[in-house]
Amino acid sequence: MMPSSLAATALRPVPEPPLALLAELTHRCPLACPYCANPLELERASAELDTADWLRVLDEAAALGVLQVHFSGGEPCARRDLLELVKRAADRGLYSNLITSGVTLNQAEIDRLAAAGLDHVQLSFQDAEAGSADRLGGFRGGHARKLALATMVHAAGLPLTVNFVVHRQNLERLPAMLVLGETLGASRIEIAHVQYYGWGLVNRAALMPSLAQLEAATAIVEQARVTLHGRVTIDYVVPDYHATRPKACMGGWARRIINITPAGLALPCHAAETLPGFTFPSVRSQDLAGIWRDDPLFTKFRGTDWMPEPCQSCERREIDWGGCRCQALALTGDAANTDPACALSPHHAVMADAVALATGPTPDLVYRRISGIAALTSAVG
Ligand code: SF4
Ligand code: SF4
Repeated sequence: MMPSSLAATALRPVPEPPLALLAELTHRCPLACPYCANPLELERASAELDTADWLRVLDEAAALGVLQVHFSGGEPCARRDLLELVKRAADRGLYSNLITSGVTLNQAEIDRLAAAGLDHVQLSFQDAEAGSADRLGGFRGGHARKLALATMVHAAGLPLTVNFVVHRQNLERLPAMLVLGETLGASRIEIAHVQYYGWGLVNRAALMPSLAQLEAATAIVEQARVTLHGRVTIDYVVPDYHATRPKACMGGWARRIINITPAGLALPCHAAETLPGFTFPSVRSQDLAGIWRDDPLFTKFRGTDWMPEPCQSCERREIDWGGCRCQALALTGDAANTDPACALSPHHAVMADAVALATGPTPDLVYRRISGIAALTSAVG
């Protein structure tokens, strides 16, 4: 007789391959953004996958059917083998995107990356105004370097997306951010409200916008979409806290994206390491296709079978997939609960409580440091 675990695997439908691989090459980064999506426990360089492992992961991703690879971090340019990895991605037919803070690259390096087959650059900004941007990123002179990099990206013939992470401390300059993005020749501008996991959750009271700020920002983005139509695409990522329905986090658990951490753990999203009770699969010992298809972490919240009420009988269950598992864990203590961002969730009141707390006095920022949250001061006064 077939063991029950094997029988369950045999009965499970084979999932569509992920659209994208998010390759977090390193947690090293010269910046210290207080909303960084990296975990509080950052990996040191000695724990990172080596070049051979990453090359194999790219091969396996292409074989699995992945179409895009996003080289991310931390700062992916901190990896000496980035050029080799970009070339392998190109050789395997993967569309490659470099997600960079932009403060270390020079023209020769970006030219070499373009020649190796890089397809696109996404450059992050902390603000439209240099003093504020450098304060938020904890890196003096960083903003000026980013402006210079945008010119270099164009000189290398690569398309550019600029990304602004917005929050209570910089939203008043949203119109200036949109002007800057257009001035820099970006084909896409991403305006992304802070997502409150990891470092963002630590700094929630300092970063959370009021409902009035959020509504004003949304109106500005909608107007800009009209004004810039046909010239610049604007992506807009809103915070869940003021919403009545959650977003489809990562396009649904283990449906669109596979994330590899610097140390080689495979995750359905970059915050999934916060989920307790799982042994995270490692690409050091398992192949990507097997992880995607069968790993318990990936299958646990895939689809709709796992859903509690009210999601189970909700008409939106295949639209937002019950929201974010990591947010459910962080705010309700159970990853299997309906995302409390949903007004139908029995836990929805925790969002209102958080919004009320976060519109009080603005505490000092806790900067992202490899040494953890004990380091409270910025490199820039
Ligand atoms: S959010 Fe800031 S600190 Fe985090 S990886 Fe990006 S640039 Fe570095
Ligand atoms: S009840 Fe569940 S599926 Fe329905 S809108 Fe809320 S989170 Fe989405």
